[in-house]
Amino acid sequence: MVYTSLKSPEKDYSYDLNIAHLYGDLMNTYGDNGNILMLKYVAEKLNARVQVDIVSLTDHFDKDFYDIAFFGGGQDFEQAILAQDLPTKKEALADFIENDGIVLAICGGFQLLGQYYIEAGGRKINGLGILGHYTLNQSDNRYIGDIKIYNEEFDETYYGFENHQGRTFLAENQKPLGKVVYGKGNNKEDGGEGLHYKNVFASYFHGPILSRNANLAYRLVTTALRKKYGSDIQLPTYEDILSKEKPEEYADIKNKADKPS
Ligand code: GLN
Repeated sequence: MVYTSLKSPEKDYSYDLNIAHLYGDLMNTYGDNGNILMLKYVAEKLNARVQVDIVSLTDHFDKDFYDIAFFGGGQDFEQAILAQDLPTKKEALADFIENDGIVLAICGGFQLLGQYYIEAGGRKINGLGILGHYTLNQSDNRYIGDIKIYNEEFDETYYGFENHQGRTFLAENQKPLGKVVYGKGNNKEDGGEGLHYKNVFASYFHGPILSRNANLAYRLVTTALRKKYGSDIQLPTYEDILSKEKPEEYADIKNKADKPS
């Protein structure tokens, strides 16, 4: 049964955003819930009321109700359980994506938006099959560590921490979320990390990605608001609501992240 896990406090807001946390009770490794908290934080700064619903096994994904879908990471065990449920949500999620719905998919969620995922043990798990990428396994190894990527289109840099055994390969017509500056990325071979398609943002970054990269959080929330309320709505800038809040030591942390040991 779909249930609401988080809601903005009662007050007057200019906007409403409904977020579906897909399989949020199963897929939530490495603090992925922080992405939900960050979406809510940024949305409220932009004067939007937020409701977050857990949409899990046997639940219907209402593509007309939700503005953002978040699909987090998970262990192979959980991924195999929910793989059986994915076909029931495929059509609605595919429509949502084609209709420019906003999706953030992390690690296991990123893998399962694609064709298939080969578990560490070699078993093949079918994904949603909505997007063209696929994920192979590797023997006795995981890609673990700090990672930094650069997105040329947005001229933005993102920082994170990756921990995955899967090696993801994008389809010909897909582009990564960014070019790897350091770290392994999708597969350690082609220099790409994550995926950006329409309003789908997928990545291997934990951290969680949105709390470490407020620029990306701002991008997701403002894209959702403009899609729902019109591209001409006046919203506070990133600098107005987020960058001024950085503590002094942020610059220092960032410098260190630029030069990993
Ligand atoms: N189980 C997957 C892998 O190891 C996804 C891991 C994750 O979501 N952190 O590749």
